[in-house]
Amino acid sequence: MARHLITSAIPYINGIKHLGNLVGSQLPADLYARYLRARGNEVMFLCATDEHGTPAELAAAKAGKPVADYCAEMHAVQAEIAQGFRLSFDHFGRSSSPQNHKLTQHLAGRLADAGLIREVSEKQVYSHADKRFLPDRYIEGTCPNCGYDKARGDQCENCTKQLDPTDLINPRSAISGSTDLEVRETKHLYLRQSDMRGKLQEWIDSKTDWPVLTTSIAKKWLNDGDGLQDRGITRDLDWGIPVKKGDEEWPGMEGKVFYVWFDAPIEYIACAGEWAEANGKTDADWERWWRTERGADDVRYTQFMGKDNVPFHTLSFPVTILGSGEDWKLVDYIKSFNYLNYDGGQFSTSQGRGVFMDQALEILPADYWRWWLLSHAPESSDSEFTWENFQGSVNKDLADVLGNFASRVTKFCRSKFSEAVPSGGTPGAREDQLIADLEKGLREYEAHMDAIEVRKSAAALRALWVLGNEYLQDVAPWSTFKEDPDAAAMQIRIALNLIRFYAVISSPFIPDASAQLLTAMHAEDATWPADVASAVQALPEGHVFSVPEVTFRKISDEERAGWQERFAGVRT
Ligand SMILES: [Zn+2]
Repeated sequence: MARHLITSAIPYINGIKHLGNLVGSQLPADLYARYLRARGNEVMFLCATDEHGTPAELAAAKAGKPVADYCAEMHAVQAEIAQGFRLSFDHFGRSSSPQNHKLTQHLAGRLADAGLIREVSEKQVYSHADKRFLPDRYIEGTCPNCGYDKARGDQCENCTKQLDPTDLINPRSAISGSTDLEVRETKHLYLRQSDMRGKLQEWIDSKTDWPVLTTSIAKKWLNDGDGLQDRGITRDLDWGIPVKKGDEEWPGMEGKVFYVWFDAPIEYIACAGEWAEANGKTDADWERWWRTERGADDVRYTQFMGKDNVPFHTLSFPVTILGSGEDWKLVDYIKSFNYLNYDGGQFSTSQGRGVFMDQALEILPADYWRWWLLSHAPESSDSEFTWENFQGSVNKDLADVLGNFASRVTKFCRSKFSEAVPSGGTPGAREDQLIADLEKGLREYEAHMDAIEVRKSAAALRALWVLGNEYLQDVAPWSTFKEDPDAAAMQIRIALNLIRFYAVISSPFIPDASAQLLTAMHAEDATWPADVASAVQALPEGHVFSVPEVTFRKISDEERAGWQERFAGVRT
C-alpha cells in the first residue's frame, strides 16, 4: 500500500469562494484523494483557511467583529460548504492555529540561523487615525499621471501606471479616509531567496514529469529580469503570527507579525499537527507524513493549485523547507490549473459575477457541479462556464447516459422478473466483446487518473457509461424477452451488475450518486474492480435490489434562463 500526502491551496478567509476557485485546487485534489483511497492507498488529504493579513482585518472591521471571531465564523462557513461539495479532507485546518504559530516561528529561527534572513529598513506610510502602517494598496489619492482621484498606492487602475504611495497627490487612508498620514521608517525581515537560486534551479530542472504550466512559471520567476528576488516576510500589523526566533524574542521586531504569504504554506505542515490533535493521535502519527527521517521518505506528496499560486509553491515555500536544513518533505508533484471564466467574462467576487459555492449548492446537488467542473477543468488552457454547456452536459452525460441506464434496467427487471438479479441464460460473444471493451476502457481511465489528467479521466469514465448503453441498445432485452426470457435474464443480470460497477468507478467524481446507486443495488462490496469479468458477476443470481430514486434530473430551459439572469452580476 503506497502512502500519498495531498494538499490543496488554502482558500483565503474573507468570503465564500466561486466555482472557479473550487475547480482550481480543492475539487481536483478531492478527486485524486478519493481515487487513491478507492485504489487501496493510504491517503492524508489536507486543506485549511488562510486567515492572516490586511484583507482579513478589513473584512472583520466591515462586519463589525473582532478579527479572531470573524475568522472563526468564516472558517466554520467554509468548512460547511466544503462538506456540501463532499470535499473529503482528512482535516480542514486554520493558518491561525497554535500549531502554525509555533512552526512558523521555529522555521523563521532556523532560516535566521542559516543566514537566510536579513534586516531591511524601509519607509512606510503610517496613519495616525487608523493607528497603523498602511500597505501600499490601502493608500488612495490622485494619480500624478492621469489625474484619476481613486488611484492606489501601488498602481493607478485608470492608466495602469505603477506608483509609489509617495507619488500620490492628496494621499489618504483607504480604510478611514484620513489624510493625517506620515512616512515613517520601519524595519522588516527579508528572506534571501536569491541565495537559494542555484539550488532551486537544480530542483526544478529535476522535475521533468511536471506539467509545463508549473515549470514554465517557476523558471520565469527564477530567471526573468534580475532573477529571483528576496522577499519581505514581516508586516506592521496586529493580526498574524508574532515575529519570534523559535521561542525567543526577535530584537527590533516587537509588535510585528509574519507576512501572510510566509506562514500560509507552512500551514500545510501545521495542519497535520492539527489533524493529530483533533483525532487523539501522537506527534509521530503526523510526522510520518512530513519528516523524511520519521517515515515520510516513502510518501508521495502532490500539491494542487491555480497558476497564480505556482511561484509561492515552486520557489518561496521550498526556500523555507530547504533553507531550514531539517528533514521536511518536499513536494513531489505540482498539479496547477488555468482559470475558469464565467459566461463571456471573468468570475468577479467584488461584482458578484458568476456562481459562488453556497449559491451553487442552493440550486443543485454537489454531484452536478462536480461533474461539470471536473469534466471541463481548465488544464491545458483557461476554460469557460456557460449555462448552455452546463445544461447540456448534465442532461446528456448524467441524466441520459448514466441515470437513465440505472433507471431503465432496474425498472425493466422489476416489471418482467422481480426486484432480484434474475437467473438463466448464458453469456455469448456480445457479452465477451462488452467485457473486453470495458476492460480496455477501465485501464485507460485508471491511467488518466494516475496521471491526474482530469478532463481525460472524465471522458474515459463517460466512455465506459456509453459502452453499457450501447450494449443495452444492441441486445434490447425488452425485445429478447418475448422470444427468449432466459437470454433477457442474462442480459439484465449483466446490466444490473454494470450499475454497481459504474457506481464504484464513478465515486471519485460523483460520490453521492455513487452511494445512492450502491445502496439501491444493496451492494456491500464497493472495492475497486480488479477485472471487469468478475465485476459483472459481483451481484449473484437472486441478489435483491431496489429501484433507485431518480439519480440525476434534467435541467429545463426555463431554469437555465433564470439562473443565467440571476448570476449575471451584482450579488444580492
Ligand atoms: Zn493614472
